[in-house]
Amino acid sequence: MAIDETLEHVWADVVTRNPGEPEFHQAVHEVLSSIAPVLAKHPELAENKTIERICEPERQIIFRVPWVDDAGEIRINRGFRVESNSALGPYKGGLRFHPSVNLGIVKFLGFEQTFKNALTQMPIGGGKGGSDFDPKGRSDSEVMRFCQSFMTELYRHIGEYTDVPAGDIGVGAREIGYLFGQYKRITNRYESGVLTGKGITWGGALVRTEATGYGAAYFAQQMLRARGTDVEGKTFVVSGSGNVALFAIEKIHQLGGTVVACSDSHGYVTDANGLNLDTLKDIKLVGRRRVSDYVESHPGAVHVSDGSIWDVPCDIAVPCATQNELTARNAAALIRNGVMAVVEGANMPATSSATSAFLEAGVAVAPGKAANAGGVATSALEMQQNASRDSWSFEYTEQRLEQIMSGIHAACYETAEEYGAPGNYVVGANIVGFLRVSQAMIAQGII
Ligand code: GLU
Repeated sequence: MAIDETLEHVWADVVTRNPGEPEFHQAVHEVLSSIAPVLAKHPELAENKTIERICEPERQIIFRVPWVDDAGEIRINRGFRVESNSALGPYKGGLRFHPSVNLGIVKFLGFEQTFKNALTQMPIGGGKGGSDFDPKGRSDSEVMRFCQSFMTELYRHIGEYTDVPAGDIGVGAREIGYLFGQYKRITNRYESGVLTGKGITWGGALVRTEATGYGAAYFAQQMLRARGTDVEGKTFVVSGSGNVALFAIEKIHQLGGTVVACSDSHGYVTDANGLNLDTLKDIKLVGRRRVSDYVESHPGAVHVSDGSIWDVPCDIAVPCATQNELTARNAAALIRNGVMAVVEGANMPATSSATSAFLEAGVAVAPGKAANAGGVATSALEMQQNASRDSWSFEYTEQRLEQIMSGIHAACYETAEEYGAPGNYVVGANIVGFLRVSQAMIAQGII
């Protein structure tokens, strides 16, 4: 996808001002390639330089996170919080703990989050944070000490009305618990709305755990219906085996689809009859083990440690692992095998050339900012419950999630059509998100 010449200067500026941040460049490039038609229709957006402003995060915080490991050795990690945009509400977005985390990755995620959160129509701005800390192989007490040190700096930047972090890769219920405990201890406030993804008994919301995966499955359902078909009887491949992947598999199965493969960083497992979710949950959620263990109890399944999961034929591909996991080569294999849709459960899992290849081949692509927005939308529902000191039933919350996902689908679909790119959800999502954020920014003045 190419950038219109009227926006080339914005692109050149972003590249020069943010050296060595390829993921951030990639995320910005995709948005810049989509928004020329909306700028032509709404000249006030260009006059107010809203895209230039969105490309510069409102605030970027980098801090030292020292902690002591179980052997008594001092460890030093780097912590980040990028507060991207607060036009629509307090900064909102997850924390990622993974060795790959650096400023460029957090900026790309915060940038994406701004558009994603706008798509949900909930009152949330965009932000993201994290650390290069690797929780893998660390004891619970090491994770606790790390989280306490991390929050000892982060607490001064966040708050119910300021910035509301949550989980992402490497940050789940355990980490949110330790982070919340330390925030409460430092501030002497039981401020439930400062973090989302909390435990159910202490301010958490039902469905939050399942929401990203469920939401992606609902989005897939909407896309297939828009093409005159349905999930029923379709074959899916879901990469990853974390929270997003597992609950995407659960909902796809509930909707009548069959997921034949999933993966982790050590390979993938295929089961032609459909993956058994109880086994997978037991391996990944209870045991924190590898998917290779799956074949022990399912002899008909196969584990492949040195191949690509995208070589497994499917009707719908659902990448739920991490950014740029699906390359042009993988896209070519999927297209050869007749894939009809790609639904991004992770943030930016397809490379730019993979996305272009899909679009050229007529494969529908749901970008992460639309398809995985169910997680953050349900975080906003958690904030709503916290604000009213209420808690809703699973059924009611799931119904809200389903409505939000079909609202996002409809907005992307209709906007793509309105701007001359029918069926192109990438363009639709970028235009809707950009318009909503820009209009609020203009109303609030030059800030
Ligand atoms: N990390 C998730 C995302 O990428 C959820 C963020 C949240 O709930 O605030 O959207």
